[in-house]
Amino acid sequence: MEKMTSQKLFDRSKYHIPGGVNSPVRSYSNVGGTPPFIARGQGSRITDADGNSYIDYVMSWGPLILGHAHPAVVQAVQEQAALGVGYGAPTELELELTEIITGAFASIDMVRLVNSGTEACMTALRLARAFTGRDKILKFEGCYHGHSDGLLVSAGSGAAYLSQATSAGVTESQASDTFVASYNNLQQVQSIFESAGEQIAAVIVEPVAGNMGMVLPEPGFLEGLRKITSEHGSLLIFDEVITGFRVMYGGYQDYVGVTPDITCLGKVIGGGLPVGAYGGRQDIMETVAPLGPMYQAGTLSGNPIAVAAGVSTLRALRIISPYESFSTLTDRLCSGLDAICEEAGLSLQINRLVSMWGLHFSESPVTSYADASSADPEAYSRFFHSMLESGIYLAPSAYETSFVSTAHTEADIDETLDAARRAFVRG
Ligand code: PLP
Repeated sequence: MEKMTSQKLFDRSKYHIPGGVNSPVRSYSNVGGTPPFIARGQGSRITDADGNSYIDYVMSWGPLILGHAHPAVVQAVQEQAALGVGYGAPTELELELTEIITGAFASIDMVRLVNSGTEACMTALRLARAFTGRDKILKFEGCYHGHSDGLLVSAGSGAAYLSQATSAGVTESQASDTFVASYNNLQQVQSIFESAGEQIAAVIVEPVAGNMGMVLPEPGFLEGLRKITSEHGSLLIFDEVITGFRVMYGGYQDYVGVTPDITCLGKVIGGGLPVGAYGGRQDIMETVAPLGPMYQAGTLSGNPIAVAAGVSTLRALRIISPYESFSTLTDRLCSGLDAICEEAGLSLQINRLVSMWGLHFSESPVTSYADASSADPEAYSRFFHSMLESGIYLAPSAYETSFVSTAHTEADIDETLDAARRAFVRG
């Protein structure tokens, strides 16, 4: 597929935007090549500036659970825009969004709306520190919770699970407040708590990891985190920015039956516009200003257009309840991929849950970041480009998750499988 216009736009963008993009993964630095510039989206498809059409499994990195330009969302945004784009004062729509969230999540008594998942997670940690009076937090290698300073860390090479910054500009002291353990490794968590439990304000975790490719929690992992944090007076934070309203209306916590103290949300709750949220038990949330001493604010928090998109999306989800049909569609895709790999004599790990799926070019099961990192990045890049050429738009990085929406059809899946068959034959 020729990408002349995209190429020209990308060349121009590089003069004005670092790397030509407003978020690094969009630059295709992980897979090589020129990113198509997108002109429009409709249902399960996007069309680029060169007129090429693709079946989209990125879906704006998760928010578009109803597909592109869903009529109810478009109408809600247009109607609200005509009434004014924002007031910086409370509105009934915000109340409706927060009531939908507290109604869906049994663990959330109160919730505060923010503008992104990053803001939600960053604030959830501040809240945990304010509530417990402790400084340290524990995260897992390969889980992404946005780009706030203390979270841009990975496991250090030294002893005691101390971490090192993964970005320039993060200070040693910010990094040293974060312990890093391996995902699905309860023993490591236990041993960190044995040595420093009384200093740890919270454990933050993606209950289903979506940022090291897709990695599922092993049975007992989340239950174990709940037990260990409770025993040590630490809080458990579920980052459901991806999974909230996506794997079940009440998030993965409802699916697995483990109750966190604080939940972070984003993506789907904004219906494609910028909305994040953090919420939890009333006694914890009463720490937030103006009720309590922990400060957090936002000029555009609860913006009416963004909230209108979110409310219309969540209302539609409530009515359609697409979770069973998501599973059927994802199974059709992943079992099809399994069969193609078997035919081609390839060993791939294809993980799936409801509307999330992802593949690792690895011979053995992937349950941690170390496993994900041992997969073959070149094989992913080749597969990615072959699929793109066949009109299938996957994430331009092996460390991401793919999504289906209510707009994806069995015909889309079959077209995707045909493309995958060609990709694996091409090698
Ligand atoms: N948490 C998770 C699990 C995410 O996947 C992301 C983004 O991909 C974030 C937090 C950060 O959200 P945002 O990009 O809206 O700041």
